[in-house]
Order: sequence, then structure tokens, then C-alpha cells
Amino acid sequence: RAVAEELPAAIWEKVKDHPCYSEAAHHHYARMHVAVAPACNIQCNYCNRKYDCANESRPGVVSERLTPEQAARKVAAVAARLPQLSVLGIAGPGDPLANPQKTFETFERVAQLAPDLKLCLSTNGLALPALVDRIAAYNIDHVTITINMIDPEIGQEIYPWIFWRHRRWTGKEAARILSEQQLLGLERLTERGILCKVNSVMIPGINDEHLIEVNAAIKSRGAFLHNIMPLISAPEHGTVFGLSGRRGPTAQELKALQDRCAGGANLMRHCRQCRADAVGLLGEDRSSEFALDQLDERL
Ligand code: SF4
Ligand code: SF4
Repeated sequence: RAVAEELPAAIWEKVKDHPCYSEAAHHHYARMHVAVAPACNIQCNYCNRKYDCANESRPGVVSERLTPEQAARKVAAVAARLPQLSVLGIAGPGDPLANPQKTFETFERVAQLAPDLKLCLSTNGLALPALVDRIAAYNIDHVTITINMIDPEIGQEIYPWIFWRHRRWTGKEAARILSEQQLLGLERLTERGILCKVNSVMIPGINDEHLIEVNAAIKSRGAFLHNIMPLISAPEHGTVFGLSGRRGPTAQELKALQDRCAGGANLMRHCRQCRADAVGLLGEDRSSEFALDQLDERL
């Protein structure tokens, strides 16, 4: 748990008003996500593309998709009405770094209209190493990477394919490339002092035991937080696509795994698996109140 006394001053400066990185901050500061990034460059076996990216978001939700121009307008309008707003994140509905033009144009516009907001993004990591310079240039100082495995044997059970260097890769080869890019991206970000959170989806019988090794691997590369999230097994939302018959972990299994990771990378235990267009304090959903058409009416 991030508290002032335990952290170097430069890091505390970055986490103190980010509700996801500091458990203390989540009662006082709000974040908003804008869903400007529809495409994805990999397939996760638990994702149904009709809905938001399941690596960061609540399953079965379709977010309000915006152009970068609409997104920036919405952020400025929300910032004027919600004084606790401290963070703007891009987390979908696909992978933000598989849509670099839209993602970076949005950050650029937001930086002009609301320069005090911290910028944050989440990614599956495949395109990350090549974009680290750009992430740093746009002053994005928080990045979440979803890392579900470091072993391609396990990875092939989770990822049926990736799209990389103009072609589709499958099987162990796909998982090997994805894992290399994720870990390289994490190293490059932490070398530059960008704070990284790693999300892992716990899939019983596939990567549950293995996540202890993932925790050690990300700690050694400087990850600030590890957020182990349960697979949410909701067939009506298609969230077990490719993993049919798999159940999510029980709350006790999740807690037991988190406890076994104690002493490794710090664990986040207050994630709410927010929507890709979430607005407000963590745990409260004001996305409909702040939908673009609602704001337009009030402008
Ligand atoms: Fe779905 Fe996100 Fe995985 Fe892409 S990275 S397949 S959007 S869960
Ligand atoms: Fe924070 Fe988790 Fe919500 Fe992302 S999904 S904004 S990490 S609480």
C-alpha cells in the first residue's frame, strides 16, 4: 500500500493523487477514461470484441466511443464540473497502442485543454517497446500492462493469435513474442521513471500458480504495482470466449494467491475493473451523467 513515508518523494508526487496507484487517493480523487481506441492487435481467449477490452475493464460493457476531438471536449467539460478529477486514462475499448494516432492525438488535445491532468494508459504491451519514447514525450507517467504469463507454454492457452510485423502469429511463437515485448516494454518504461502497474487475469487451471513467477518477473523489472484480477466467467457476455468451461476464481482463491505473492511486487487490492468510459471516484459510475450528449446539452 502506497503511503507517503514509505515512498521516495519523486514517486509519491506521481501517486498521491492517482486513485489507482494510491489506495489512500481513491477516496478523494477521480479518474476518467475516454474510449477512443477501437482496434486490437491480439486476441485474448477471455475477450469478446463486442465489448470493452477485458484486460482493464468490466466485462460485458460497451463504452461510448469518441473521436479524439470529442474526447478532449468531454474531458474539458468534465474537468470543469468535477474538481476531484486528477487523471485521464485511455483504456480501450481495444488496445490504446494498437491505435496510436487516435490515442496520442487525444493526449495532445487534452494536455492543451486540461494541462493539470495526469495522463495514463493501459495496453496489452505488444506494441509498447517501440512507443516508449512517444509515451515519455507526451508526459504519460502511468502505464498499465496486462501480463498473464511469462511462459509461452501457458501463453498459448490464453492467446490464440497476435498480429505482429504485418502478419498473424499463433501458438507458442505468438506467446513468446508477446511476452518478450511486454517485459521489454516494462523495462524501458521503468528505466525512464514512468510508473507501471501490471494487470494479470487469474485463470484457474491455466495461470493461477504461474502468476507467482509473473509477480517475481515484473518486480525485478521495476513494476510499481501488481493487480491480480479474477477471470469473470459470464458466458452471457462472451467473456469466456475460447476458455469455455473455465470458471473464474473464488474470492478465497484470489486472496490466497495474492497472499502467496506477498513480499514480491506490491499488490493492488482496490481495483474496480472500470469501464473504458468510466468517470468519477473508483467504485462510482457517473459515465451516463457525463456522456457526451448530456454534456452537450448543458454546455
Ligand atoms: Fe480484448 Fe483487450 Fe485482449 Fe485486445 S487486449 S483481445 S481488446 S482483452
Ligand atoms: Fe483503476 Fe482498476 Fe479502474 Fe483501471 S480498472 S481505473 S486500475 S480501478
